[in-house]
Amino acid sequence: MSDHYERVKIELQQMKEVENEAAADVQQLSPASVSSVPTDVSFTARRDLSRSSINGRSRSKSRSKADGHERQVNGKQLSDLTPQKLDYSQGQSRVSNEPSLHIKGTGKLLKGKTAANGHVESCQRQTDGKEDGSKVAKKRRTVTVDTSKAKTSLEALKMSIRQLKWKEFPIGRRTACDIYWHGVSFHDNENIVSGQVNKFPGMIEMLRKINLSRAVRTMQELFPEEYNFYPRSWILPEEYQLFSTQIRLLKDNDATLKPTFIVKPDSGSQGDGIYLIRDPADLRVISGSQIKQAVVQEYIQKPLLIDKLKFDIRLYVLVRSLEPLEIYIAKEGLSRFCTEPYQEPSQKNLSHVFMHLTNYSLNVHSGNFVHSDSCSTGSKRTFSSVLYRLASKGVDIKKVWSDIIALVIKTVIALVPELKVYYQADIPPGKPGPTCFQILGFDILLMKNLKPVLLEVNANPSMRIEHEQEVSPGVFEYVPSPVDEEVKVGVIRDTLRLMNPAERKQHVTSNTGGGSPEEAIVVETGSDEKEGSADSLPSLCLKQVFPKYTKQFNYLRVVERIATIFLRFLGVKGTMRLGPTSFRTFIRNCKLSNSSFSMASVDILYIDITRRWAGMLPDSREAGMCLQAFIEAFFYLAARRSKALPLREQVLLLLEVCEGALEGQSHSEKPRPHRSHTNTNPASSQSSAPTTFSSPALTRRRHRPLQLSAKANTEN
Ligand code: ADP
Repeated sequence: MSDHYERVKIELQQMKEVENEAAADVQQLSPASVSSVPTDVSFTARRDLSRSSINGRSRSKSRSKADGHERQVNGKQLSDLTPQKLDYSQGQSRVSNEPSLHIKGTGKLLKGKTAANGHVESCQRQTDGKEDGSKVAKKRRTVTVDTSKAKTSLEALKMSIRQLKWKEFPIGRRTACDIYWHGVSFHDNENIVSGQVNKFPGMIEMLRKINLSRAVRTMQELFPEEYNFYPRSWILPEEYQLFSTQIRLLKDNDATLKPTFIVKPDSGSQGDGIYLIRDPADLRVISGSQIKQAVVQEYIQKPLLIDKLKFDIRLYVLVRSLEPLEIYIAKEGLSRFCTEPYQEPSQKNLSHVFMHLTNYSLNVHSGNFVHSDSCSTGSKRTFSSVLYRLASKGVDIKKVWSDIIALVIKTVIALVPELKVYYQADIPPGKPGPTCFQILGFDILLMKNLKPVLLEVNANPSMRIEHEQEVSPGVFEYVPSPVDEEVKVGVIRDTLRLMNPAERKQHVTSNTGGGSPEEAIVVETGSDEKEGSADSLPSLCLKQVFPKYTKQFNYLRVVERIATIFLRFLGVKGTMRLGPTSFRTFIRNCKLSNSSFSMASVDILYIDITRRWAGMLPDSREAGMCLQAFIEAFFYLAARRSKALPLREQVLLLLEVCEGALEGQSHSEKPRPHRSHTNTNPASSQSSAPTTFSSPALTRRRHRPLQLSAKANTEN
């Protein structure tokens, strides 16, 4: 009863607040408050955050963690690992003495009205005397954010909202909010019919290890060279035999080869259940009576090392919209270091998790883990500090960065087709619903030859800005983590700025094709970043990379065009599977059957492929042909029509046939646009539409010959 009473009181309070909002908005227009930033929040990249005040949150929460030592790491008890005293001394006082690396935009002040990427910054807008006050009052309505489901990102989110002077609704709101921040999935809050949600439907599913591997593999079939940044992978259990046979053949051909493989459970995270093997016979495929779903992947044996330690990079990527496709990359990321010096895998060291796995969640339990207040030392550092180290050794870091950008864009392009299917199923065109955006966590490894390799993409990257620290045996405390705060608050704050509803309406994509990814980073050495003045926010730490680099990457969006056809025949009923009748209609409307390919053959093709995919997706509740199965059928049909050509050309020819046939049909059959397509700017939507690709001579490689980087590495 009292809970209910409390809730009613809060709702009443909120209703009053809604009424008061207009007045509050007008008040906010006073020059002092338009763009002021709380003075206790600094945006300086190199500030010593250990001394910063962190408003409104307890700096440490003690909890006894009796189970902390019982956690299993690949069969190894963490309690077995000799706990050593943590070394807090490293790097404590280095901050101010270090030469600093500035990545353009991470902390610079906005002087004019436009941010680094050419966007008009609504939070920077000043009354210039020409605009009448009431008009401006409307424009500057306070943006509202529902944070009730934010979970572990709450602290960073709260800080961001405070910096932006927006309004937070921590227990939700009776009326709609502009932005809903979910901690896990699109469905955290049900029944949202407007506004924007920070998760796409289906993203979690798409980024499970098997689905990501499948999506990248489809692209590898069409563009083997462009997608060679993802290690060769096999899906278990269905490709167990294929894996065993290929490895046996490989070893038979070259006895000197000693490849290593990493096995990752499909839905695992934080290194859980991961192990290394050197022989297919060592696969632990069965767990109890269940066959484990997993990906087994070529292990990169020669990673780039710093101070003899393996490390990986966590980069934050904002998918701002699927249609038109808009991708941003955070200019600052995290580098996570192993805590045991690296040695190439041998039978002896395969189980040394602190040597081979860079996961923070594992290495934090090592006695060698270094918590540091500096962003450029310790076991977790900023990526820019690593780039600085590399630059000082003569590494062309612009090239490294541009390769990383290309990897990110290509990966998102691989994910988009299926994401569009999920999107249409959850928010069918014509029904009310929110639009979506999402921050993804890309985990990237640099090889010794500096080539970036994609390890995985996280749908829910940790946005925690505190970390656990063992203060006495078995007792852990949450303490602020300067490096996490440095990176993550900027990412969340600037994502919010980009999703500002007023901003989105006016958004003009300034650059739709020129430039090269290398321009994305400008490295400056010299003085520390200047502190943000009280009336400005720093320039955006998120850099637009798509549609900016449309010209360079649009030709890869071939599968997306197949998905567009799939969606058209799927209709708007909220399903994700094509029925046999719809498949027949597709064949008929695209005029693909003829005397040598009868409708009976079409039915057999449908049944064959659909049945096989149903076996590969045992969890699926829906019957019918999924997008991946449709793509396979499309490839088959393409190969039938023009046998002599490489696959990519076959597919492009068939796409032209289908698109031509469908274009001629009545408007009423055309699919209505997604409502995620909020960008009303015709220039940008034109620019991001996949264009027809005409390729040079191509080689068909449906079954890629096995080429392991163990061998490729020896060339470097
Ligand atoms: P999880 O989601 O459990 O963290 P990851 O795919 O990120 O799984 O793998 C965990 C860690 O294992 C990575 O952070 C990286 O250090 C290492 N790793 C993963 N894949 C490879 C690979 N193919 N080659 C070398 N190291 C890898």
